[in-house]
Amino acid sequence: MIRTLGFGLPRLGPHREYKRLLEEFWKGGLSKRELLQGLEDLEAVRVRDYRTRVDLYPAGEMSLYDPMLDLAVALGLYPVPAGDLEAYFALARGKGALPLRKWFGTNYHHLVPRLPERPAYTPNPAWFPYPVGQGANPEGLPTLIGPYTFLRVAQNPPEEKGVRAHLEALLEAYRALLAPLAPQGRPILLQEPALGLEEAEAHLPHLLDLYRSLAEAVPLVLLSYYLPPAPRVLEALAQLPMRGLAVWFHPHQPPPALAPGTAPVVLAVEGQGVWRTDLLALRERLLPWLEPLLDDGREVILAPKAPLFHLPWRVSEPLPPHLEGRLAFAEERLEELRLLKGLLLGQGDGEAAAWYTPPPIWDFQPSSPPPPRPPREVRHQAQGALGLPRFPTTTIGSLPQTQQLRELRLSLRSGRISPEAYEAEIQRAIQENIRLQEELGLDVLVHGEPERSDMVEFFAERLEGFYTTQRGFVLSYGSRVWRPPILHAPPRRREALVLRETLYAQSLTPKPVKAILTGPITLAAWSYLPEGVGFGEAVLALAEALREEVEDLKAHGIRVVQVDEPALLERMPLRDQDQPGYVRLVQEAFHRVVGGLGPGVQVHLHLCYSDYRALRPFLEAMDPDVVSVEGARQDPAFLSELQGLPLGIGPGVFDVHSPEETDPEEMLRRLEVYLEAIPEHALWINPDCGLKTRSPEEALRNLRHMMEAARRLRARLAAKEE
Ligand code: GLN
Ligand code: ZN
Repeated sequence: MIRTLGFGLPRLGPHREYKRLLEEFWKGGLSKRELLQGLEDLEAVRVRDYRTRVDLYPAGEMSLYDPMLDLAVALGLYPVPAGDLEAYFALARGKGALPLRKWFGTNYHHLVPRLPERPAYTPNPAWFPYPVGQGANPEGLPTLIGPYTFLRVAQNPPEEKGVRAHLEALLEAYRALLAPLAPQGRPILLQEPALGLEEAEAHLPHLLDLYRSLAEAVPLVLLSYYLPPAPRVLEALAQLPMRGLAVWFHPHQPPPALAPGTAPVVLAVEGQGVWRTDLLALRERLLPWLEPLLDDGREVILAPKAPLFHLPWRVSEPLPPHLEGRLAFAEERLEELRLLKGLLLGQGDGEAAAWYTPPPIWDFQPSSPPPPRPPREVRHQAQGALGLPRFPTTTIGSLPQTQQLRELRLSLRSGRISPEAYEAEIQRAIQENIRLQEELGLDVLVHGEPERSDMVEFFAERLEGFYTTQRGFVLSYGSRVWRPPILHAPPRRREALVLRETLYAQSLTPKPVKAILTGPITLAAWSYLPEGVGFGEAVLALAEALREEVEDLKAHGIRVVQVDEPALLERMPLRDQDQPGYVRLVQEAFHRVVGGLGPGVQVHLHLCYSDYRALRPFLEAMDPDVVSVEGARQDPAFLSELQGLPLGIGPGVFDVHSPEETDPEEMLRRLEVYLEAIPEHALWINPDCGLKTRSPEEALRNLRHMMEAARRLRARLAAKEE
């Protein structure tokens, strides 16, 4: 028997219903009852979508905010009384909310719970089955994140010797939560992406015990994705006596010997990429090893390679001819499973043939890499001409974006205003930004990015080779969404990327204006990539396109260039063995972008949202003149890891994500802490990140305080030197 399994269909909904419900509720525009009813209705929409296309689908995907938080609450890590949404949302977004972190290298951010010090859990049955969306979904397979994944992504995963005790305690908690469901006989869909992590092999004996015990209590479907588990892990898991089961079985690779009664789940269609599947070709690859299994009377389950929430709901807009009929988002992936099942049963060849149009061809030859940048001493000397004071002050790029600016962009898009009128308004905003920074006394100025919506989408719009969707939203975290652009051909500049605005700003001031570019790693990491093109190849192609821009900037006399790479560290490969290759890629890409710059142009690198402990090898390889990182939102202990690096370092002195005011004394204290790790001549003073999301008043207040802190620090040191 063949069955299809869909999972992860975006809880965002076809029209961002989820976002609207949550945000209305937070604003006080919806009652608790209306919110829960809204989520219930949305779950009904999802169930309908699943049911018309696949045989099996989960129940319990409709979270109030985040599935990791749901599980943490159900496991009793945080006391949340039944129905107390305030207490739940306080953990998600209140003061003292749990931190956010990237989910297995994807662009979804999950909340990160803290495990109890002692391995003991008191499950909270009021929160499992998860209280939202259950009524609309009586037949789905109850799903939850597995205990191993829960343990591994916690803030404080146990030391090696504590792993077993924690897994045993979690087993008890899961059994308690799942026991009431056992009589229904519905298999439990246990999602364990952490089985693909390196250490899973070392933990294998504990894991086998864990799943064996759990499978005795309830029928289990074990699902692992994102990364293939080590062969030994796969082989051992396949031997477990599961009733319905699945591990990571790739269509290219037949499963190892399976325990009787175990149904392999074939991860058959994409969950993170957007190109349609050549289903007829896939059938040819699958049949040789599926047929014997089916002939033996074994059940086979077809599923996507990842939960579908990494894709927009469905392709719902007219596409340009070169993409027409070539894209598949979440709903289309379910459709592919339906078609594939038909094909394997000998039906629907015509439909499958019509479904598939090969993706555009990617034809890209990287040019020879640029020469290394001039030696640091030469650069240092040449950059003396910038005339910067001790502790130079700057910002990260964006200045507050008012509602007016956002409306202006919308007006341009909808044709309500002419490009010329738009341009004039942007220039007005730049004038205002330059005036403000001069008044504040900043040393390296920015134009303020008034023309940019999103740091990736903006570049994608100005580059040929990208398609930017109108409605292709995906969830980033909580209710926050973004529209990943689709890279389909080697990127080329359609027009200048940042040149015009930067030059205009520079024409207004004698101080150096810093040109701000989103870097190739971040552009690639936050986009969908072409079919069959690896991350590294896409990165190098993007670097080439950016290099042309950088050369123009140089030719026009721009003296400071900043490359933003917030995705750099989050893209760090999950497995140690892949990390050195990644550092090399980052190095090559960065040098392709800035390598052609002469010694007198100062190159800044900006990084954020990261765990900076892994930063040093990247800075050594990239060799920028200045790096800016978050400092206010993190424990600055990571700075000690950067000691001795010969470059300027600007750990932020205030948090840009918070509306709070930070007073100059607090900033000064922070700077003094930074000076314990960074030599005086190397310290820069800047905020954590761009100020786009702050109100003009909030930004101005903290920038004033920042300048005051810089003045006091300079005065203090001058006094000491006398
Ligand atoms: N230059 C961008 C800004 O200031 C950087 C954004 C980011 O690093 N996330 O908004
Ligand atoms: Zn940033």
